[in-house]
Amino acid sequence: MSDLPGIVVTGASGRMGQMLSKTVLESDRAKLVGVVERAGHPWVGQDLGELLGGTANGVVVTDDPLEAFAKAQAVLDFTAPAATVAFAELAAQARAVHVIGTTGLSDDDLAKLEAASHHAVIVRAGNFSLGVNLLTTLTQKIAAALDEDYDIEVIEAHHNQKVDAPSGTALMLGEAAAAGRGVNLDDVSDRGRDGITGARKKGDIGFTAIRGGDIVGEHDVMFAAAGERIILRHVASDRAVFSRGALKAALWGQDKKPGQYDMVDVLGL
Ligand code: NAD
Repeated sequence: MSDLPGIVVTGASGRMGQMLSKTVLESDRAKLVGVVERAGHPWVGQDLGELLGGTANGVVVTDDPLEAFAKAQAVLDFTAPAATVAFAELAAQARAVHVIGTTGLSDDDLAKLEAASHHAVIVRAGNFSLGVNLLTTLTQKIAAALDEDYDIEVIEAHHNQKVDAPSGTALMLGEAAAAGRGVNLDDVSDRGRDGITGARKKGDIGFTAIRGGDIVGEHDVMFAAAGERIILRHVASDRAVFSRGALKAALWGQDKKPGQYDMVDVLGL
């Protein structure tokens, strides 16, 4: 039991943080050795088992990431961009695999993660589910097979507390479509249509974001031409698909060389 890789979960009280901790606690391939929350959060200092509605399990929520990471072989991090950038440096110092699910990272944030990955294994994905990563490879293949007569639209729906748009997954799918077409997404991305926008530009990849209720995550990639449409769809109904994928990534990363990896690498797609 003590030989199992030790895992730390950051953002312990968050929607994903709670799911990640439960997944690790239920796993027989890893053990939860620490959970981190931001300083001043009411969960800090309390026993996670009790906070999750069960009995005490001795894992106490801390606001000291460095102390927690020092005991870990991997950090599962689904928090916020500023926190994730700070954690990347600390995870590298602790030689822990940093599994990053946080979305909404800026180019500046990504450059800092790239720098950290020279000394550490980072696995970062806009979506950790098997289904979405399959959808990504299918999107790239279909985009490569079809010409610009097929307008590509990515439509996503999430719960009403999500703070960034389009979702990390929608951007992943857009990147895959652009790669299939051999273009740069930044040159063809069409986001936030409103008002008299003019006709759709041929070759653009459009994004639409829906926000409401408790939707876990839904993504459509539509290829629309005169007379026909192809629609690829993924629906996540349980956050466990992300936390199981994140734990898989943490275990996969244990014997890898420093660098940045994604779920396509982990799943060998
Ligand atoms: P949430 O708001 O419920 O949770 C975020 C948690 O991070 C909160 O508990 C917050 O207190 C904590 N946090 C923020 N700053 C911190 C810091 N400095 N130190 C420690 N903890 C800190 O959000 P959520 O729905 O759980 O989503 C979190 C992130 O994960 C978002 O970016 C979301 O888009 C992303 N997400 C990714 C995937 C994926 O598969 N890649 C899936 C679901 C969600």
